[in-house]
Amino acid sequence: MNNSSIKELLPVKDSFNRRIDYLRISITDKCNLKCVYCVSSKELKYFNNAEIMTDEEIVRFVRIAHKHGLRKVRITGGEPLLRKNIISLISSIKEIGINNLSLTTNGIMLAELAGDLKKAGLDRVNISLDTMNAGRYKEITKKGDINRVWESIKAAERVGLSPVKINMVPIRGINDDEILSFASLTFKKDYHIRFIEFMPVTSNGMWRREKCVSSKEIMGIISRLGGLESFKFRGEGPSRNYRIKGAVGVIGIISPISDHFCKSCNRLRLTSNGKIRPCLFSKDEVDIKTPMRNGADDEDIERLFLYTISIKPERHKLDENIAVADHIKNMSKIGG
Ligand code: SAM
Repeated sequence: MNNSSIKELLPVKDSFNRRIDYLRISITDKCNLKCVYCVSSKELKYFNNAEIMTDEEIVRFVRIAHKHGLRKVRITGGEPLLRKNIISLISSIKEIGINNLSLTTNGIMLAELAGDLKKAGLDRVNISLDTMNAGRYKEITKKGDINRVWESIKAAERVGLSPVKINMVPIRGINDDEILSFASLTFKKDYHIRFIEFMPVTSNGMWRREKCVSSKEIMGIISRLGGLESFKFRGEGPSRNYRIKGAVGVIGIISPISDHFCKSCNRLRLTSNGKIRPCLFSKDEVDIKTPMRNGADDEDIERLFLYTISIKPERHKLDENIAVADHIKNMSKIGG
């Protein structure tokens, strides 16, 4: 690709006229939990340190992408708070001019870090919590202490990492009986409770279609609590949002399986080992770390960024062919 083709791709729209302004960055593949629906211990082999993108490489890539319209970044993993220097990494990304900077965490270590993260420029957090029952939490996460997550939720509220969003993945027979309790939290708190359909992203055999609670079913359950008013936030992405009559918080429904949102997908992903992925479910990856380490200049990296956008598929085919996600093996490797 030469310079003139770079110009043709500006402003950064993909082949399906979607404007790509959102990057999810996995900054580590390591996690301090082993959630049964996320990690396949069989396949789990961590990258060694040399394989992981350095802070400088990540910041450099964000700076280059920002010149082409990147405005929104989410930091994820693995568990992103395990990364050393997370505070300075956040502040370096913020300084580039990313005005929408958020982080997804399991909340085990957030309570201690929330204040510094906010000061460094983090805008918001999503905290993953799939049950409110301490014993069940331990079963799902293999070793987590739910009290730490509640402490983190309180700390995030206190320091203004808000609105606090809680990610819940309902799985039939495991935690689907808690959908109502999670939705009810929005009567007392202005949390955003985000119900995410269970996706086939591990190779541990745990996923079966009948275990996935569809967004339609989730809505049916929640509507027992009262009428649902639907509304849109600017730049909210794939979440369909509702407020139950009389509630202060928000319900978000994310349905990658039953009603994919590819038409409005505005994102790329950067894996912790330096590959840009045009779609969570695609097999294509574009390596930026090796060229960076071999002396590529910013223009070379720009070309790779723009090339990845140009190969972004129109849609994923999960609903037609579930096996398509076999190659993912572990969500924690790519970043959820
Ligand atoms: N460690 C962080 C955390 O727990 O939030 C960030 C990484 S985790 C992979 C990011 C999100 O992916 C979590 O909210 C998790 O619930 C979601 N996730 C993982 N496996 C999933 C699956 N099979 N289906 C749907 N969501 C999944």
